[in-house]
Amino acid sequence: MKKIFDFSPENYGSFVYEKKKNPMLFFFDRIFEKAVETRNLEEYLAYMLSEILVLVQADYASVLIFSPIEKNLRVFLSTGHPGQLSSQTMSIDEGISGHVFRSGRPLLITDVTQFPENLKPRIWNPGESFISCPLKTSGRKTGVINLSRFSDVIPFGNYEKKIVSSIQGHLASVLEKQRLTEDVWHKNWQLELLSRLNRLLHAPGDFTKNLNKFCVQMANELELLEIAVFRMSRENEYSASPEIIGSHNLDENSLEPAIAEFKNELIRSSGIKNEFPAFSYGEKPSGLLHLFHLPIKDKKQDPHFLLIRLHKEYHERKAWNGFFSQVKTLVLDLGIAVERELMIRRIHHDQEILLDSAYQNGIYLEISKELTSTLDPRLVLKKAFEKFNKLIGYSSVSILLFDQLSTSYKAIIQPEYKLSEEYLEILKKSLTSVFSEFPADPVLKNTDEIDIEIFNPHHDSKKQIGKITHVLYIPIILENKIRGLIHLARENSPDFSPRDFETTSQFTGIFLTSIKNAMIHQKTEKLAFTDPLTGLYNHRFFQETLLEEFLRAKRYSKPLSLMILDVDHFKKFNDHWGHLIGDKVLIHASSLFQKSLREKIDVLARYGGEEFAIVLPETSIHGGELFAERVRSILEKTPLMYDENELKITVSIGVSSTSVTTFEKPSEMIEAADIALYQAKENGRNQVRTYLGGARASSRRAK
Ligand code: GH3
Ligand code: MG
Ligand code: MG
Repeated sequence: MKKIFDFSPENYGSFVYEKKKNPMLFFFDRIFEKAVETRNLEEYLAYMLSEILVLVQADYASVLIFSPIEKNLRVFLSTGHPGQLSSQTMSIDEGISGHVFRSGRPLLITDVTQFPENLKPRIWNPGESFISCPLKTSGRKTGVINLSRFSDVIPFGNYEKKIVSSIQGHLASVLEKQRLTEDVWHKNWQLELLSRLNRLLHAPGDFTKNLNKFCVQMANELELLEIAVFRMSRENEYSASPEIIGSHNLDENSLEPAIAEFKNELIRSSGIKNEFPAFSYGEKPSGLLHLFHLPIKDKKQDPHFLLIRLHKEYHERKAWNGFFSQVKTLVLDLGIAVERELMIRRIHHDQEILLDSAYQNGIYLEISKELTSTLDPRLVLKKAFEKFNKLIGYSSVSILLFDQLSTSYKAIIQPEYKLSEEYLEILKKSLTSVFSEFPADPVLKNTDEIDIEIFNPHHDSKKQIGKITHVLYIPIILENKIRGLIHLARENSPDFSPRDFETTSQFTGIFLTSIKNAMIHQKTEKLAFTDPLTGLYNHRFFQETLLEEFLRAKRYSKPLSLMILDVDHFKKFNDHWGHLIGDKVLIHASSLFQKSLREKIDVLARYGGEEFAIVLPETSIHGGELFAERVRSILEKTPLMYDENELKITVSIGVSSTSVTTFEKPSEMIEAADIALYQAKENGRNQVRTYLGGARASSRRAK
């Protein structure tokens, strides 16, 4: 039996002869040799195609492969074409290749001029013959091979068609292998790229920085012209504006006209009702834009988008590359990353609020503790303001409040730095003007009605407060009546926030308690220094004031005078009218004295019994004498009317002054006034006498 492949020397010659006789055998021999030689499939396919040209003596060959995703045919290889290929892809609904691919049967055309009009190739030569054969692997259509012979002497015939049909399977299987290899490589690259980008998105650190890096990388890898990740921040139900959170080659200005192209989609996904604002390009950039909505589960969040612009010419190629499936995967990743970031932000925000309120509660507690302490309530209030300043920065805090005890409005102001006169004026005016808008009880009409008290700033610096730029007002409501106003002022940004308002409101109670404490304290203090019958300062207060003024006069070398007044023959008066009427006359005399002195400068006190004292700062003996004479004569001329009786009393007054005598201590000054008073009595009463130094006559008291 004869072996088919017998390589014995006697048979080798006939084997070579067989190959020459059979070009198919020769073809396979050559391409198998090449297959052993090369690992590069593309090179192998090109080689195979050139061998096919030789085998069927064709002038031109091209291989088109079918893309199941894009449903088109793409030229994969071509050789020896006389013209330029106008397009790299073609639809399976057009041309001979489409027709052959759809029918699944090879086609032989011996003369292209005989082509039906609708199937005529785009480029052809007169007399050209043509074979188009579908490529199939395992019964699946994978592409088309086209061959042309330009010579009009011998056109292609059935012989060549049969050859092409019989070798197409081999070509198809190699192509399939090539396609699979390419696919695997591409998928690998894609996976690698996706994981790299994904790592960037979820890297620790600043999200915005990572997102920008992501955009740069994505733009580079996918050859994008522009990229931006942005959110549509909803301002209200009618408007939303884009806010970039990461981008490359795009900024707010260039983003706006770009997204305007998607306005309907953006309006829909932002859930707003308005017309999208009209933006216009200066010069419209080339390239194609695509918008992707990031999937974010929490529908309360603003919608987020990815916008990319890519080269027009890349568009088709990228579509084929499965480019969009990559971008869609990235969009999913981006959505997850953005949602995660939003969640982290929310957690941080909640944490801040918790920490904030813990801090606030701490301060609240500290102040509350001090409220019950034995400290001077005014000091407590000062401290409360200082601590409050740590929670809410301000340049000055002012509290206007109706003081039930003095039945007048009082404003306590604590500035951060020194108050200029100008600032104080503005402060007083704004307090009054704002407060007059409220239905306050009682009504406050003008600035002068406010008793202002300024607490020193706790900073020692010489710095003065500048111009007020932001203010916060909170009315104080007590027993359903508006009784006061809290006023906070800032000379710098930021403006007061609703949170500042809330915090201040929470502190109102503490402020009111400490102010009330301070007011009561002041009142009790005043009571301890007040004479119950006349309402004048008592002896104790007189002694303290005289000491203070005595020291001040010494320090600043200013004169100080003292008057001591004693009612004349009051014993007799009492004996005649009785003690009660005597009291009334003393009250009457007190108020006459009070009216004649300089308010807030001179201090009038009941020295004891029917004796009074008046401290006159910055007054010489001469001024003291004049003033004493005025007081004396007013009393003499102003009797108290009682049951149609004119109750008249007179006083004798002794005056001493540092302007004529050098005193070592206040008691010497009292003694001197007493001596003068004694002289007035001696001299006939109802008169003024001054102590002019010299011999120390013994005082009445010393007697
Ligand atoms: P002289 O002109 O010398 O001062 O005569 P005098 O009577 O005022 O002097 P004296 O010191 O002898 O008497 C003081 C009187 O003042 C005695 C006292 O009854 C009366 N007196 C002192 N304090 C009060 C008071 O609070 N009410 C009343 N009604 N009388 C008082
Ligand atoms: Mg007396
Ligand atoms: Mg008397």
